[in-house]
Amino acid sequence: MSLFENTLKQINKAASIMGLDKDVLTLMSNPQRIVEVSIPVKMDDGSLRIFQGFRVQHSNYAGPYKGGIRYHQDVDMGEVKALSAWMSIKCSVVGIPLGGGKGGIVVNPKELSVGELERLTRGYVKAIADVVGPTKDVPAPDVNTTSQIMDWFSDEYSKYVGHDAKGVVTGKTLENGGSKGRSIATAQGGVYVLDEIAREQGLVPANTRVVIQGFGNAGGVVAQLLGKKGYQIIGASDSQGGIVCNHGFNPDALLQCKVEKTTVKNCHLDMEKLVQTEGASCKMVSNEELLETECDILILAALENQVHVGNADRIKAKFIAELANGPTTPEADEILANRGIMVVPDVLFNAGGVTVSWFEMLQNAENKYWSEEEALQKLLPIMVDSWKAVKGNAEKYGCTLREAAYITSLQRIADKIKEKGIL
Ligand code: NAD
Repeated sequence: MSLFENTLKQINKAASIMGLDKDVLTLMSNPQRIVEVSIPVKMDDGSLRIFQGFRVQHSNYAGPYKGGIRYHQDVDMGEVKALSAWMSIKCSVVGIPLGGGKGGIVVNPKELSVGELERLTRGYVKAIADVVGPTKDVPAPDVNTTSQIMDWFSDEYSKYVGHDAKGVVTGKTLENGGSKGRSIATAQGGVYVLDEIAREQGLVPANTRVVIQGFGNAGGVVAQLLGKKGYQIIGASDSQGGIVCNHGFNPDALLQCKVEKTTVKNCHLDMEKLVQTEGASCKMVSNEELLETECDILILAALENQVHVGNADRIKAKFIAELANGPTTPEADEILANRGIMVVPDVLFNAGGVTVSWFEMLQNAENKYWSEEEALQKLLPIMVDSWKAVKGNAEKYGCTLREAAYITSLQRIADKIKEKGIL
């Protein structure tokens, strides 16, 4: 089943609970524009390779299309459509004036030289330049795309339009108009939501065990932020596997070890650096084992479809928080709901990233830049208010947090569609 079918299931479920206007549902079930391009790239050995690229513009009822670009060998149109629809939902969950889009290139960037990666990125910009722009569609980084790639994007687009148009993408380097705070915003936004949950549920960080799947930009930073708050980070993994330490470990030390030893699982013997408690031990685990580790909070920060019908009944976390997009399938959602395991959904929990991307757009437009403190202070009430709105709808409709997040968002988008006289 394509990932987009999962998205449609989620939209349909929320629509039926809230009684969404059927024409609004039809609009939200069909991306407004789908672009597929061939990108010719001269490789270092002189050969010519064609790469397949996509840009999907799901909806712009709430504002310009917004969403990242993914470089991955498994990218396909179904995935990009799903990710673009989730962006529409996400932006309206947090009430920012943006719609949803997403892009991708079928490539394993680790197999390209820096020069090839730059030529590929510039080629992609040339291929989609007509449909993007600072007030039209604003891409950003996603899996395997970096601030350097965004700098190449904005430079190539600025050449294309003949003037400085750095606002065409967000997630740029600070020297090229990026926003301070963007690199930690996704994780920080999630932590603001966790702070609310901890307050409501009386969670004590020192007694709260956290497992994190995916130790990249989002997962690595959330480990550091929660570590600073005194949470016990007991497990983490990357694509090669993971480790679990019975008394928790120091996330900064694990991040450093991952750089030195290339993958998390090679760090289980670095005991003296990783753990501070006597009697502590660490073991290597597979990704499957990591997900099934007994803990209080399981943070999913890797890729889609990680918790599915095959493992949802073996999850031993008290609740799940989704920093990745789409890590839980609709079937798994049902199993988890029946087992009383709360899932804080991606469209709320990881929305700090796109919110600070919006801040970057505002700063680029004004040519006036904020401190990191200012950006994160502005993010806080947005995340807290969104959590309260979603929780309020979960109580009102007696539904899951995911359904409530979709209801919150679809209601706002329906209002925009009405305001603009689209239907
Ligand atoms: P990243 O590439 O920096 O990190 C991904 C991590 O997941 C890597 O450590 C990788 O090794 C690991 N991984 C891959 N497959 C795995 C598997 N099967 N099991 C365990 N680990 C695995 O990417 P990122 O930017 O951290 O993004 C991660 C997720 O968060 C994606 O779904 C992305 O769409 C989402 N997200 C990221 C941001 C952001 O600002 N970075 C914002 C919103 C959503």
